[in-house]
Amino acid sequence: MSSPLPFLPFALPEIGDDEIAEVVDTLKSGWVTTGPKAKRFEAAFAEFLNEPQIECIAVNSATAGLHLALEAIGIGPGDEVITTTHTFTATAEVVRYLGADVRLVDIDPATLNIDLAQVEAAITPRTRAIIPVHYAGLAVDMLELLDIARRHGLRVVEDAAHALPSTIEKELIGTLGSDATVFSFYANKTMTTGEGGMLVTRNAQLAKRARVMRLHGMNRDAFDRFTAKVPSWYYEIVAPGYKYNLTDIAAALGLHQLKRLPAFQARREAIAARYQAAFADLPVILPPEAPEGDTHSWHLYVLRLADTAPIDRDAFIEGMFAAGIGCSVHYVPLHLHPYWRDRYGLMPEQFPHSQKAFETMVSLPLYTAMSDADVERVIGAVRALLEA
Ligand SMILES: *Cc1c(COP(=O)(O)O)cnc(C)c1O
Repeated sequence: MSSPLPFLPFALPEIGDDEIAEVVDTLKSGWVTTGPKAKRFEAAFAEFLNEPQIECIAVNSATAGLHLALEAIGIGPGDEVITTTHTFTATAEVVRYLGADVRLVDIDPATLNIDLAQVEAAITPRTRAIIPVHYAGLAVDMLELLDIARRHGLRVVEDAAHALPSTIEKELIGTLGSDATVFSFYANKTMTTGEGGMLVTRNAQLAKRARVMRLHGMNRDAFDRFTAKVPSWYYEIVAPGYKYNLTDIAAALGLHQLKRLPAFQARREAIAARYQAAFADLPVILPPEAPEGDTHSWHLYVLRLADTAPIDRDAFIEGMFAAGIGCSVHYVPLHLHPYWRDRYGLMPEQFPHSQKAFETMVSLPLYTAMSDADVERVIGAVRALLEA
């Protein structure tokens, strides 16, 4: 009897010897919190975006970065911020941190991104900002969204947790005309620092506020004081800030993950292309691809089971687990979670496209640490469940 194959997890990071050596170097250096490597990581990120002048602010999560960006543009009680119901709660919770309210809108079923017609319909006199989410790594139509924002005098903060390195009209997400863009380096994202994020902006005033609020509302950070030639013990508190700085231990990982991102991206694209070809004849809705010439980061590979599929989504995921393969669902939409549902009296009928997508969707494993044999194993299991 052959032994069963080991469980294939839904996601795994790929950490190499260079990352490990850089972390060890940091640990031996005597400077483990925010310092020279966090600064280098910020500079390297600006270089990756091919915008040496853009401000990159390293933070300990994308959630922190979104909070800082909204705080810096002055979101507060009485304000409304529009976002998609089909996202992770972090996108919306940061609005509530600031005492403002969230207006959730449905998705476009073709892209699974926020429906821009519904964004426009949801604008009220209290609306101050829009948070688009580039779902799975497929960029939102930012030209259209920025046009809506301009016409209504709204600010735009992009939740780009999935969108490194995605493009729209051949421009990298992070370099468009929004107020700020926030990337995530959580364990399962397209590159990781364990926990971490990057707030990117061209607005110098926003950047200055975010840097101060990132570290307790201090007008000088610890590394500046440590390395300054003038007396370094003195600082001033100018606001009740947060504790959102990225450690040098995490930045050490980021420096090398960022170097590997082009290779990671090529591998993700190859796996996605293999899946697209292998599932084309099954009773499924394949994930939408980026327009010709643009890049989809393929953070997630989300299949939707067609009404003609022989089993439903829950049975499909059970079948995959029985075959030793981890799957996930992105996401249980916000309108179904007790907090969001009850605060705003939300009902599934208000979000028919997100609801239908949620009920039929499954995220398959897609990550750089998968071997070709792992990819073929996933394909075999999916076909066995859906060919019937
Ligand atoms: C992962 C994720 C976040 C939060 O990122 P953290 O770095 O874990 O704070 C926010 N929004 C979306 C859409 C995400 O997938």
